[in-house]
Amino acid sequence: MFEEKGKVKFENNKLIVPENPYIVFIEGDGTGPDIWRASKYVFDAAVKKAYDDKRKIQWVEALAGEKAYNEKGVWLPQETLDMIKDLRVGIKGPLTTPVGKGIRSINVTLRQELDLYACIRPVRYFEGVPSPLKNPEKVDFVIFRENTEDLYAGIEWQAETPEAKKVSDFLFKEFGRKLPDVVGIGIKPISKFATERLTRMAINYAIKNRKEVVTFVHKGNIMKYTEGAFKNWGFECVKNEFRDYIVFEDENMPKDDKILVNDRIADAMFQQIILRPEEYKVIITPNLNGDYISDAAAALVGGLGMAPGANIGDGYAIFEATHGTAPKYANLDKVNPSSVILSGAMMFEYLGWHEVSSIIIRAIEKTIKNKTVTYDLARQMEGAKELKCSEFGMAIVDNMG
Ligand code: NAP
Repeated sequence: MFEEKGKVKFENNKLIVPENPYIVFIEGDGTGPDIWRASKYVFDAAVKKAYDDKRKIQWVEALAGEKAYNEKGVWLPQETLDMIKDLRVGIKGPLTTPVGKGIRSINVTLRQELDLYACIRPVRYFEGVPSPLKNPEKVDFVIFRENTEDLYAGIEWQAETPEAKKVSDFLFKEFGRKLPDVVGIGIKPISKFATERLTRMAINYAIKNRKEVVTFVHKGNIMKYTEGAFKNWGFECVKNEFRDYIVFEDENMPKDDKILVNDRIADAMFQQIILRPEEYKVIITPNLNGDYISDAAAALVGGLGMAPGANIGDGYAIFEATHGTAPKYANLDKVNPSSVILSGAMMFEYLGWHEVSSIIIRAIEKTIKNKTVTYDLARQMEGAKELKCSEFGMAIVDNMG
C-alpha cells in the first residue's frame, strides 16, 4: 500500500530518511484534534521554510482511541500497529484511557508492542513562560525514563480473585510472607537487559550532545533488588562500556571534559530539581519514578502544555505530548499545542532534519516572548494576549522570520 521509496528505513543501526517520508499521525482524543490541526500547520510551514519543496512529509493517519472505537469497535486496531511497524515513525496526540474497565492503556500497549523502551522528555525553559522558580532559565535537562518494565509491566492481580489468593498463598508457603486477606498484588520487574539498553541510549546522547552530568535516579535504599539493581547495573554498564568518557562522582578525580556520573535517591531528587536544577543534565530512571518526575519537572517550566516527549526503541519512534486529553476543553480551540509542536521538533531532530527543528524552536521562543500565548500561559503572564489554539499555531508560523 505504501511505496518503498517513501518509507523510513533502519539499517546497520542507522535511520535512513527519504526526502518525502511517510510519517504516521494519531490525532488523539479530547483536545487532540484541535492540537493536531495547529501542530500540522506549524510542521508543514517549517519544512517548507527549511527546504522549500525539496522535502515534504507525507502524513498518514492511523486510528486509535475513541475515533478507532467509534469507527472500528476497538481502541487500538491491529492496522495501526502494523502501519507504525511498517513506517517506523509516528506522532500522536493524547488518548483516553477508560479507568477501571479492564482496558489496557493504549499508550502503554503501543510502547510495549513496538518495544519503545526509552521515554525521552526534555525539560527546558522558554523565556517569558511563567514559572514558580526564581531562576527557571537554570532548568535544562533531559529525562530518560525506562518504558517497558517496573510496575507498568501490567503483572497484577485484583484483590479477592483466585489469582491473588494463589499468589498470596505461594508467598506464605514458600517464603513465610503473610499478606492481608483482602489485598491487590502487583509485581515490579526490573531487568539487567532493559536497564543496560536505556543506559546506553542515554550515555550516547550525553556524549553526542556534550552533556556534563548523567544522574541515575532510583529508590534503591528501599527497593534494593529492583531500583537498587537498576543503579548498580547502570553503573556497571557505564564503567564497562564508556570508561574513557566518564568519571564517577565518588572517584574524586579531575573531571576535565568527561561526563560526571552520579546517582540520587528519587525523593531527594524532587527537591534537587527545584533547588539546584542547574546541576542536572541527563536523568536515567525506572518507569514509575520517570512518570512522576517528568510532570513535576514540566511544572517548573510552564506546565504540561509545554512538555514534549518521545518514545524510542531500536528503529521505531513515537513522539507525543506528555499531557492527557484535557476533555473539558475538547473542541473549544483553546488549549496549548506546544507540547505536540515541541514533540514534533524532537521528531525532526530524530529524522536528522535539524533545520526544521531549529526553525520551530526559534519561532515558539519568539511567540512566547511577544506574549501572544494560549490561556494556560496567558492567565499567569502580565500583559499577555490570549490566543486560541489555532491562532497560536498561526502566530508561530508568522514568527518563522
Ligand atoms: P490532562 O488531560 O493532562 O489534563 C489535566 C490538566 O492539565 C487540564 O485540565 C489542564 O489544566 C492542563 N492541560 C492539559 N493539557 C493541556 C494543554 N494542551 N494546554 C494547556 N493545559 C493543559 O489530565 P487528566 O485530566 O488527568 O487526563 C484526561 C485523560 O487523558 C485521561 O483519560 C487520561 O488517561 C488521559 N491521558 C493520556 C495521556 C497520553 O495519551 N499520553 C497522558 C496522560 C493522561 P487546567 O484545568 O488548569 O487548565
